[in-house]
Amino acid sequence: MPVDEVLYRAAVGLIESRLASVDWATAAALRMDDGSIRVGIALDNINSGAGLCAEVGPIAQAYTEGRRVVDSICVTRSRDRQHDLVLAPCGLCQERLALWGPDIEVGVFDTEDPRGWSGRRLRELNPYYWASAFFEDERWPTTAEHSD
Ligand SMILES: [Zn+2]
Repeated sequence: MPVDEVLYRAAVGLIESRLASVDWATAAALRMDDGSIRVGIALDNINSGAGLCAEVGPIAQAYTEGRRVVDSICVTRSRDRQHDLVLAPCGLCQERLALWGPDIEVGVFDTEDPRGWSGRRLRELNPYYWASAFFEDERWPTTAEHSD
């Protein structure tokens, strides 16, 4: 399923309901294989090393429930509240999402698209995925191989 307006609105809705008074707000929405959506916010901490990306909560929830993530979007709202930006997953979250394979679609910042964002497959963000080097056919590891 593609990253779509429904997923985008889920992330923005969480910003508006949970982070309305925060200067800089980031939320993620991830769709599961059954079509349900999990949302999360970035965990800020005075020790920035203890912070977590907005995707981490929904990723952990999906894994806990035995669900497969099929697409993901992360939205950050600027301090002036004039702009919502879709951010591609960071390197760590790309690694976390790789658990479910290279065909997960993720939202990316895209000035060519009238919405300012579009969807890309994880393999497009990371065409030389490091773990592929361990397989003769250079495929991505399966979920089970990731979890070993
Ligand atoms: Zn991240």
